[in-house]
Amino acid sequence: MSPERYQRIRQVLERRQTDLTVCLENVHKPHNVSAVVRTCDAVGIHRVHTVWEKKYQFRRGTAMGSQQWVRQTNHDNINDAMAELKGQGMQVLVTHLSDTAVDFRDIDYTKPTAILFGQEKYGASDEAKAIADQDIVIPMMGMVQSLNVSVAAALVLYEAQRQRTIAGMYNTQQLPEEECQALAFQNGYP
Ligand code: SAM
Repeated sequence: MSPERYQRIRQVLERRQTDLTVCLENVHKPHNVSAVVRTCDAVGIHRVHTVWEKKYQFRRGTAMGSQQWVRQTNHDNINDAMAELKGQGMQVLVTHLSDTAVDFRDIDYTKPTAILFGQEKYGASDEAKAIADQDIVIPMMGMVQSLNVSVAAALVLYEAQRQRTIAGMYNTQQLPEEECQALAFQNGYP
């Protein structure tokens, strides 16, 4: 690996936001999973959480396969996922098309935050909605009821990125140095 490539990997790892994450609940179409994870990488998310109920479990180990830059934790069910995220002190936001949901731009994403995106057809589960701290919505002014899940993820994550950039959060390394070094080595250094 060239020194330039190593520097590039280090720069990426040093900007990773360990206290910002996404949880995909039964999002199962490979192109959607892939597109969301690509956006996660682009905004500096280090780890993505996934929950696939039985009929979608064929996704385990396949949909995320090529996304070597973003770590994945798969949970057996949504309750486990939510418990872990809340246990890490995250505010858990569920993207949901409801009248009571808050406009996604009115949220403070500089707080430790997990954002849940729901299944392509049915959206987030009732369990997820019940446990989440807040429903958030991307206002819709047209005839269609909802956006594609990967488009919705991009909009919310770039609002989080915007706020975190202003707050200077990309200027401070969050990943422990040992983990940075281990990951750089895992990815082919030297
Ligand atoms: N009928 C489903 C529902 O009522 O939730 C639509 C699911 S939508 C196609 C798939 C996912 O994209 C949702 O679970 C949510 O995560 C996200 N999404 C799409 N449009 C959204 C919007 N306008 N506001 C918030 N989330 C949205």
